[in-house]
Amino acid sequence: MEKRPSLEVNGRRYRWPREPLVVVCVDGSEGAYVDQAVRAGVAPWFARTLKQGAAFVAECVVPSFTNPNNLSIVTGAPPALHGICGNYFYDRESGAEVMMNDPKYLRAGTLLAAFAAAGASVAVITAKDKLRALLGHGLAGECFSAEKANEAQLALAGMARPSVYSAELSQFVFAAGAALFESRRPDLMYLSTTDYVQHKAAPGAPAANAFYAMMDRYLARLEAAGAAIALTADHGMNDKHGPDGSPNVIYLQDVLDGWLGKGAARVILPITDPYVVHHGALGSFATAYLPAGADAAALAARIAALPGIELALERAEACRRFELPEDRMGDLVLISRRDTVIGTSVSRHDLSGLDAPLRSHGGVSEQKVPLIFNRRIQGLAPGRRLRNFDVFDLALNHAE
Ligand SMILES: [Zn+2]
Repeated sequence: MEKRPSLEVNGRRYRWPREPLVVVCVDGSEGAYVDQAVRAGVAPWFARTLKQGAAFVAECVVPSFTNPNNLSIVTGAPPALHGICGNYFYDRESGAEVMMNDPKYLRAGTLLAAFAAAGASVAVITAKDKLRALLGHGLAGECFSAEKANEAQLALAGMARPSVYSAELSQFVFAAGAALFESRRPDLMYLSTTDYVQHKAAPGAPAANAFYAMMDRYLARLEAAGAAIALTADHGMNDKHGPDGSPNVIYLQDVLDGWLGKGAARVILPITDPYVVHHGALGSFATAYLPAGADAAALAARIAALPGIELALERAEACRRFELPEDRMGDLVLISRRDTVIGTSVSRHDLSGLDAPLRSHGGVSEQKVPLIFNRRIQGLAPGRRLRNFDVFDLALNHAE
């Protein structure tokens, strides 16, 4: 590959790729999924890579949701800088709850766009279309989703159009990615899957092992075609139900309605998106907008005492701690424990689509994610806190 100068993007410097690099974000890939698939003997590429490459445990962005983390990965920066802190936020100016999947909400350029602008060939493939516009913002390169793939892209993957709720939606990302890599060898490729399987199947379950075995075959194919591979996750995944299989939910809007009067406070669940079947819009993170004159500190303390709540913070402290944009967060940030989710009102959650006990994410308990490379990694400062959004830094600046 041509030798070019390094690039600075969002205050960080990246070396020009010395070999084609494929960065994979596996949605909801709690570390145990890979470990269990390796133990079951169905993931030989992972088994070899964990020994001969490099593997770390990193921390994702909280809220541990898909869009904030994918945008952090492709900008190399936290949501405080790029602005995407959920699927959904409450716009105080317009008084409306709005989807945040429009690039107009993105406040930073991506390193994919920056490398493409500097002459690199770049390709991006996502599972769900909700990410495509954000990941492809300003990008002079190929960017498409499995969900809205055209005939040529389906032919490239060699697959029929997958259902949006299926393991095949993610398989398409790998199938199209491997075929595209073999034919065009882009300098940088970003592949992002969906967590349909992880929401239903725990690590080591047959469906989970089958999914990681599928992924393993495509990663081996990419490696055989000469790709440096860096793999991470947007967030982890945990069981959020009791022993009888029913979900552990704190219906926070109902709680606040009881304390402050109906509709006085507004609870926003930034996990909410058009695809709620597999989690019923229930995750471990919520933000609450309080009525004028409310005592935020006292309410935070009262919410913190509810069983199942891990953290109840006022906006400024939460945004400092989790590097979030203050103008897109409510007065309080609420995070539930590992086995519990936060809802709005009982009547607003349709759980009829949940055909398996609830597994979900959003909290601090889903913050640990893997960072796996098929190259050795060197020169990291001792004791450095690794984030999933360091994946391009490690792959471009520290790989041997
Ligand atoms: Zn999810």
